[in-house]
Amino acid sequence: MGGGFGGIFLSMSDRFIQIAASIASIARGFQVRGWALGTSGNLSAVVEREPLTLAMSPSGVDKGDLTAEQILMIDEHAAVISDHHAKPSDESPLHIRIIKERGAGAVLHTHSIWNTVLSDIHAADGGLSIEGYEMLKGLEGVSTHEHCEWLPILENSQDMLALADRIGDTLRKHKDAHALLLHRHGLYSWGRDLAQAKRHVEIVEFLLEALGRTRLISQQRKV
Ligand SMILES: [Zn+2]
Repeated sequence: MGGGFGGIFLSMSDRFIQIAASIASIARGFQVRGWALGTSGNLSAVVEREPLTLAMSPSGVDKGDLTAEQILMIDEHAAVISDHHAKPSDESPLHIRIIKERGAGAVLHTHSIWNTVLSDIHAADGGLSIEGYEMLKGLEGVSTHEHCEWLPILENSQDMLALADRIGDTLRKHKDAHALLLHRHGLYSWGRDLAQAKRHVEIVEFLLEALGRTRLISQQRKV
């Protein structure tokens, strides 16, 4: 973030401080809901497009305790450019790829019970479709419960660069998708800014829990 242009430096710095505070607050909210337990989950938002600069959650930190001061600034190669001695989330390359593919302003990732369970049950289908729910209207551009949302499911990997490439392919193939699942891992959603990305996570988590619980209750009633 160097450079001798005081005005630019200050405005970017102010933006980063605001974004970092929002990221920390969203992370704590997700942890309370059980969507980011045991240091899982990660969050990012664009601070500047050119050159691409992100605010990113650090690796290995309890999301229930996350503070704005712990949020890192990283470049498009996931290298830390703020004055921190911490590692960004291992999944930073996935965030960067989604931001580049979608032009997103924020990317949020959760590890809830229901997104993990449904990513497993539907893995063989390569995704699952959700339709007929009023809550779908919380997704950007959706105006009716009759909308059919396809949620792609990708096989999990520890090779983040390879996984980022597969995510890029999936997003190009499913241009209307608002989110995707990684098998037995978690949910990624995004938005034009943190508020929209948070809304998308809340909507998709609600829909997955509703689907999962409906399926469970229907099966119990058959027995
Ligand atoms: Zn994860």
